[in-house]
Amino acid sequence: MKPLDVLDIFALLLVGFVISFFLIANFAMLLSEPSNSIPEGSDIPSAFDARPSAKHSSLPSSFELVEMNISAYCPCEKCCGRFADGITASGHRIQPGDKFVAAPLNIPFGTLLAVPGYAEGLPVPVLDRGGAIKGNKLDVYMDTHQEALNWGRQYLKVKIVEEQK
Ligand SMILES: [Zn+2]
Repeated sequence: MKPLDVLDIFALLLVGFVISFFLIANFAMLLSEPSNSIPEGSDIPSAFDARPSAKHSSLPSSFELVEMNISAYCPCEKCCGRFADGITASGHRIQPGDKFVAAPLNIPFGTLLAVPGYAEGLPVPVLDRGGAIKGNKLDVYMDTHQEALNWGRQYLKVKIVEEQK
């Protein structure tokens, strides 16, 4: 083995320098990486929130808008007759403050509808049926008979926000 001459030493230094340069560059990239990712526990934008709720900031691109003939009812005997047992056709036990609708059979339970002027226009579920609720009719639920009378009958464009299959 021959002793290293000046050129060999220079070559070794150059290789060492290049290797160190890449190591430092990689290290710097590792250090800067966390600032590009979303920190844990931070608020994920609501666009990723798929839950059906009042949080919908925008409607799905393919929602349906249907004009319906909308009356209102309460759990009293005048409104519900022999079905005035405080339980909806879907089996829901009515609580004061509930917001839901009775819809025709072609709209499945759980479908979320937004009715202008009812529940601040937020989506509410279909939880009930009614003998007179056919075709394009809808009944919005009210806590009291007076509120139901105040609603009267209105023709409104209802948004089907989330369909149940
Ligand atoms: Zn009533």
